[in-house]
Amino acid sequence: MPGFETNRFVNLEVIDGLIDELRCSICMNIYETAVQTCCGHNFCYGCLKQWIQSNGDRKECPECRQLLSSRKRSNSDNNNTIIISSDVVVDKNSKLNAIIGKLKIRCDYEWNGCSLVMALESLSAHLKECPHRLCPTCCLNVGPSREQHNCIDQLKNEMNNWRNRFLETEQKLKEMLVENNELNRQVMSLQNRVKPYIKNRVI
Ligand SMILES: [Zn+2]
Ligand SMILES: [Zn+2]
Ligand SMILES: [Zn+2]
Ligand SMILES: [Zn+2]
Repeated sequence: MPGFETNRFVNLEVIDGLIDELRCSICMNIYETAVQTCCGHNFCYGCLKQWIQSNGDRKECPECRQLLSSRKRSNSDNNNTIIISSDVVVDKNSKLNAIIGKLKIRCDYEWNGCSLVMALESLSAHLKECPHRLCPTCCLNVGPSREQHNCIDQLKNEMNNWRNRFLETEQKLKEMLVENNELNRQVMSLQNRVKPYIKNRVI
């Protein structure tokens, strides 16, 4: 899903009231590469593309339903245009993208320990270098230097870790089973001892 979730930004409340201006009506997130249709509505590039692709022949604005396919931009020769499909061309909303580019966002790998906060426009450069990033091939931590990362070694390591954890857990379960049997035995012997006393009682 395109768009940046609002909770990834820091201090977004300082532009309260403006947030809705920066929100895509398809994904409800902050625009990711905002584009503007001929009817003046803004969407994430990815959101509009998905919408156009999933609507078959009827290529209309998700907001006002105006047909987009028949209206090629008159100024399509400027380098600000972006092609959505063969017959739908929109403009990049540079103003909007510039404002959003300055917003402070948390790293994608915050969940993996990266505490860095940066302007959105610097995010993609950081993600290539983030020490907390994951390898796209093996999905394991890349670590500080990519050169030292070897997918096969990492996977072997990971496999060994899991095998050890499995063996540990198996051992714990065995111990719990023994403990449980011992408890059962004690309860039985206790029941046998009290049996004569409760034999004639109606419960
Ligand atoms: Zn969107
Ligand atoms: Zn529209
Ligand atoms: Zn990071
Ligand atoms: Zn890898």
